[in-house]
Amino acid sequence: MQSILVTGGAGYIGSHTCLELIKSGRKPIIFDNFSNASSRAIERMEELAGTEIEVVNGDVRNYEQVSKAIEDYNCEAVIHFAGLKAVGESEVRAMDYHDVNVIGTHVVLRAMKQAGIDKIVFSSSATVYGVPKFLPYTEDHPRNATSTYGQTKLSVEYMLEDVRRSGEIKNVAILRYFNPIGAHSSGRIGEAPNGIPNNLAPYVVQVACGKRDAVNIWGDDYDTPDGTGVRDYIHVVDLAQAHLAALDHLDAGKGAFTVNLGTGNGSSVKEVIAGFEKACGKSIPVSVGPRRAGDIACFYADPSSAEKLLGWTAKLNMDDMCRDQWRWQENNPNGYED
Ligand code: NAD
Ligand code: UDP
Repeated sequence: MQSILVTGGAGYIGSHTCLELIKSGRKPIIFDNFSNASSRAIERMEELAGTEIEVVNGDVRNYEQVSKAIEDYNCEAVIHFAGLKAVGESEVRAMDYHDVNVIGTHVVLRAMKQAGIDKIVFSSSATVYGVPKFLPYTEDHPRNATSTYGQTKLSVEYMLEDVRRSGEIKNVAILRYFNPIGAHSSGRIGEAPNGIPNNLAPYVVQVACGKRDAVNIWGDDYDTPDGTGVRDYIHVVDLAQAHLAALDHLDAGKGAFTVNLGTGNGSSVKEVIAGFEKACGKSIPVSVGPRRAGDIACFYADPSSAEKLLGWTAKLNMDDMCRDQWRWQENNPNGYED
């Protein structure tokens, strides 16, 4: 059975991906420092998978810990989710963001080279494109990140492109995620943000379940059909499955690649809220405020490369995303806490 080191595997996208890995007959080795994850997520994953899951509590910046995990479990590839991901926070903790996201990735690559493994799947983001010069974004859209978080993703993309060119790590998959939302259909695992959610969907469901008063719509005067921001939301399970398609591609020796992972459809803030109202069967209070600094009016993916190269397309729609995220929220109003 192929062992895969999954850094950040206890987190939101990582937990869903580990379940898909197990379904496909692979063995995920979760490597996580639990800075943004709960050990209860592991218990729930084990319950859903019907098997024990190997977990290493470690930090991606620690070379010895990463190396030991790769060697102890004889890992053949790495899926590298571990990182810090809050755009606003990155503007006040730039040192930490570069430390974890960029230096952490360098440590992982060094450990891989030392162990002689050369397949890595990396979590990049649509944020590397910056202000759209054209839409949909295709993979050859110029890259111009506008936040520290985005800069760290871009720095890692450049690092991965360099080590691929040098031949030190040849099989590099760069996956540019659009806006992952939703949860596992069981309602047992999902996104559990600490404190006030920064992102739209977790905020909306916290309003829907009565934890917060109203959704703040950050601007309704954009040049979009209803004036609110438009994004390409993708179900986290579709996203998780794309990682398997990426591994299959690398395993088949088809080489390095970079792809967008989105549905190709844009949805506005108001459309997302309407989707959640339908899912939870009640109206969700909103209040319209000023634009959020640094926000882009509208962006969405051209996902056709992922289909062509990997045979992957997103299958779930906004109704599925809202239904599953609402089920998770309703069953776990405090996330993994009691
Ligand atoms: P998440 O915070 O739920 O998961 C990240 C995991 O990494 C957490 O379990 C955390 O405990 C762990 N981690 C953080 N620092 C670590 C360290 N130093 N050593 C070991 N583990 C560490 O985030 P997510 O939404 O699952 O995102 C996963 C990846 O996808 C991240 O790299 C993120 O930047 C990227 N991404 C996420 C989104 C999104 O909207 N969720 C969009 C684009 C890209
Ligand atoms: N948004 C909003 N209220 C919120 C959170 C987000 O109106 O409480 C809007 C935001 O301006 C953007 C969209 O929802 O147009 C998606 O924001 P999110 O932070 O989820 O993703 P990102 O902007 O990083 O793509």
